[in-house]
Amino acid sequence: MSVLIYTESEGGKLKKAAFEVASYAKEIAQSLGTTVTAVAINVEDSSALGTYGVDKVLEVKNDALNNFNAKAYADVLAKAVAKEEAKVVVVSSSADSKYLAPLMAVKLDAGYVSNAVSLPESTAPFKVKRMAFTNKGFNITEITTDIKVIGLSSNAFGLKENTGAATSEAFEATIEGNLGVEVTAVDKATDKVSIADAEVVVSGGRGLKGPENWGMIEELADILGAATACSKPVSDMGWRPHSEHVGQTGKPVATNLYIAVGISGAIQHLAGINSSKVKVVVNSDPEAPFFKAADYGIVGDAFEVVPKLIEKLKEFKANNA
Ligand SMILES: Cc1cc2nc3c(=O)[nH]c(=O)nc-3n(C[C@H](O)[C@H](O)[C@H](O)COP(=O)(O)OP(=O)(O)OC[C@H]3O[C@@H](n4cnc5c(N)ncnc54)[C@H](O)[C@@H]3O)c2cc1C
Repeated sequence: MSVLIYTESEGGKLKKAAFEVASYAKEIAQSLGTTVTAVAINVEDSSALGTYGVDKVLEVKNDALNNFNAKAYADVLAKAVAKEEAKVVVVSSSADSKYLAPLMAVKLDAGYVSNAVSLPESTAPFKVKRMAFTNKGFNITEITTDIKVIGLSSNAFGLKENTGAATSEAFEATIEGNLGVEVTAVDKATDKVSIADAEVVVSGGRGLKGPENWGMIEELADILGAATACSKPVSDMGWRPHSEHVGQTGKPVATNLYIAVGISGAIQHLAGINSSKVKVVVNSDPEAPFFKAADYGIVGDAFEVVPKLIEKLKEFKANNA
């Protein structure tokens, strides 16, 4: 019996989510007196997983799995769960994992809790705190099945390093049946830092007046090593790519720091960023709804505030180099 995790990767490289899921699973495994087994699908080098608490990696190498396919991945994961006799399975809350986890749960006859925000409140009965109400509240959900599937909310737990090293073994999983869909072309956004992996996001709204004014948002993001994002109308108008649209109908953002510039704070925008830890809002209207959700607010013109922020951050970096 072990705790099993799905380690997300892109182009053969493990994503940050894989290490966070590993860190979280390690603590569950310790409380259950067991170990962590990771499933790594077409990952070039999975050795770093040991640093985050993984004891064993099942290495799956199969060209048919180069592109994510929820049905095929769920099949592989379910077979790994059976092999390891795992009772707890942890995945991230990325779009892929939210697609994969329910399929896997059905195969395993398991209860699935998405958007978990902390370690289980208890393991007998197995109770998990999760985000609810479009991330504006929490609930405690008990999983009553023998096998439990948990989707961990991004950045909710963070990375915890361990001293161990993981062993690795090849795992051959034949994929059965018609997968139904096949990726025939990939058009990838060339984000410098992807929103899903970012610790910090700098986001712009319609208050920036036009695409020609995004230079200062990009510069601020560069200094902070942040990803850039935007509100829905900004991407609808073609000022920024759709891959940057965050909110209820866009990407969810669960960063350590979210800086919103010229964004009003409509409920649909907040739904996507509520789980970010610290929110900083720059808006010229003191009545903008976003200030109610902000940890720090700057009432001012973005075209004055952002250049000053950039100047101060540059000074700070130069003095602390
Ligand atoms: C079904 C549905 C789903 C939706 N999903 C999403 C979603 O996923 N994500 C999303 O973002 N929206 C979504 N929306 C749209 C949402 O309701 C808002 O219309 C949108 O978020 C507003 O974008 P905004 O804040 O950029 O623009 P605005 O509402 O126009 O706000 C611009 C803000 O900029 C400020 N401002 C103006 N000039 C300056 C300046 N010089 N300096 C500083 N501040 C300035 C203004 O005070 C204002 O607060 C959805 C709507 C619907 C109906």
